[in-house]
Amino acid sequence: MTPARIAILYLVISALWIALSDALLYRWLDDPMRLTYWQGLKGWFFIVLSALLVYALALRLKKVLSRELDVKRHHLALLRRKIYSDHLTGLPNRRAGLRTIRSWIQQAKSGQKQFYVMLLDLDNFKQINDTLGHAAGDQLILAVSKRLQAALTERQQLVRYGGNEFLWLCADVQNSAEAERRASEVVALFAQPFVIGPTTLRITASIGVVGYPHNGATQGALMRNVDLALHHSKLYRNCFKLYQSSMTRAMHYRFDLEQKMREALEQGRFDVFYQPVYDPRKARFTGAEALLRWPDEGGYISPADFIPVAEQSGQIRTLGAMVLMEACKVTQQLGERLGWPLSVSVNVSPKQFADERIIGDVRQALESSGLDPALLILEITEGVFLSNAIETGEILTQLMELSVALAMDDFGQGYSSLSYLRKHPFRYLKIDQVFIQGMDTSDQDRALVKASVAMAQALGLKVVGEGVETDTQKNLLTELGAHYLQGYYLARPMPADEYERFLMKEQVG
Ligand code: C2E
Ligand code: MG
Ligand code: MG
Repeated sequence: MTPARIAILYLVISALWIALSDALLYRWLDDPMRLTYWQGLKGWFFIVLSALLVYALALRLKKVLSRELDVKRHHLALLRRKIYSDHLTGLPNRRAGLRTIRSWIQQAKSGQKQFYVMLLDLDNFKQINDTLGHAAGDQLILAVSKRLQAALTERQQLVRYGGNEFLWLCADVQNSAEAERRASEVVALFAQPFVIGPTTLRITASIGVVGYPHNGATQGALMRNVDLALHHSKLYRNCFKLYQSSMTRAMHYRFDLEQKMREALEQGRFDVFYQPVYDPRKARFTGAEALLRWPDEGGYISPADFIPVAEQSGQIRTLGAMVLMEACKVTQQLGERLGWPLSVSVNVSPKQFADERIIGDVRQALESSGLDPALLILEITEGVFLSNAIETGEILTQLMELSVALAMDDFGQGYSSLSYLRKHPFRYLKIDQVFIQGMDTSDQDRALVKASVAMAQALGLKVVGEGVETDTQKNLLTELGAHYLQGYYLARPMPADEYERFLMKEQVG
């Protein structure tokens, strides 16, 4: 019944009651004294009845209201859970984690206390997701979250910060030594594999660590710095890194370099140098490795410094396409002028291989220069396979269809180059310069180079010894049967015109 109806009903019943009861009293009672007495009684009766009615209505209203309030509270709790917790693991989510940090900062301010924040990222998680599927990825996240939760102490909190990232908030850690101990315990939690259905997965984690207040006075600063520390730990993986101010300086340096690189690219200020490659059997130079150079303030910024920045900022594709185009053009023109075919090796970094447009870039460089594809050698390191195994295989197959050659660069530096050599159609193997340069003095390095040459020959690969700096190294490599030699002892990297003069002189000589 609506409130209006209740009021009208009450009005009607009251009016009827007053009118009828008065009429009855007047009819039955002649004595004015008795009439006054009964009218008073009737009035009180009416008041008590009304009060009971109001009480009953209020009681009902209260019940209805409290039921509604319960429903609202329930909805609010659900909403809060949705907003502040992660649907997969049930852990507090990013928003909740950041809120906790803010509240800890408030508490720490008044109590002069410290606390530590660890940001944990699962290594190679994308690969697991890609190969086993998202459902397995979710199960792994769940298993990891359970294992981490089991290791929490009372004053620590675990937060699912993002896809494969967890925040570990430690109110009970008071100095960096404790933080280091805790972080290494967390890294060790990944020593045992995770069993997901029929699959046993080995996964590691990288961790960045910051402490309040010395690594950031606000939640924003703490998170920025823990991110940087994580970024550094990711360079090595399966480890933790405590934040240091040098990390921020390195980030600014990178940022500046990125801006400068953008300008240099627009203004075409990058050069390609050529380091001649020597064939000891023919006793002459047969080609070169193209090496990118960035002139800066009278010197050069090393590719080892700017290539990683170009990879991160996405500029590597433009740079890579430019090197390919330039190297093919210069090599073809020079070969025509000299009258013998020259080969050229171009370095291709892992990020370039993650982008299938590399195939179009190679094709275009070959077509526009007219260079025989067999004379173009693409140099890759095993890093190419580590970052994106599946796509890399497909891209390699398509590149091989263009008939270009493939070289494994810096062989011996990584752990798994051997298995890649077996799986992919490499034609050249470039032994890492560290071993070549150690040949003079170290028996072990000499033995390693000897074994690498023998293995390459058994696999039908041509061996390139790079970083040859002495006559002894040159002779040793030649004796061992290396097919090509490259290094400062034979020729330094040089600009295209100098390369042409160098080859002319060699031809005459
Ligand atoms: P890398 O491909 O292993 O190239 C060989 C590096 O060794 C070059 O350094 C070369 O100048 C240097 N080198 C050659 N002979 C000797 C020697 O006798 N002694 C010593 N100590 N060093 C020697 P560079 O030019 O600084 O390049 C460094 C790395 O940067 C290259 O290593 C390559 O991975 C990368 N890089 C260079 N150019 C490009 C490019 O166009 N694209 C990509 N993606 N990476 C490039
Ligand atoms: Mg190379
Ligand atoms: Mg190399």
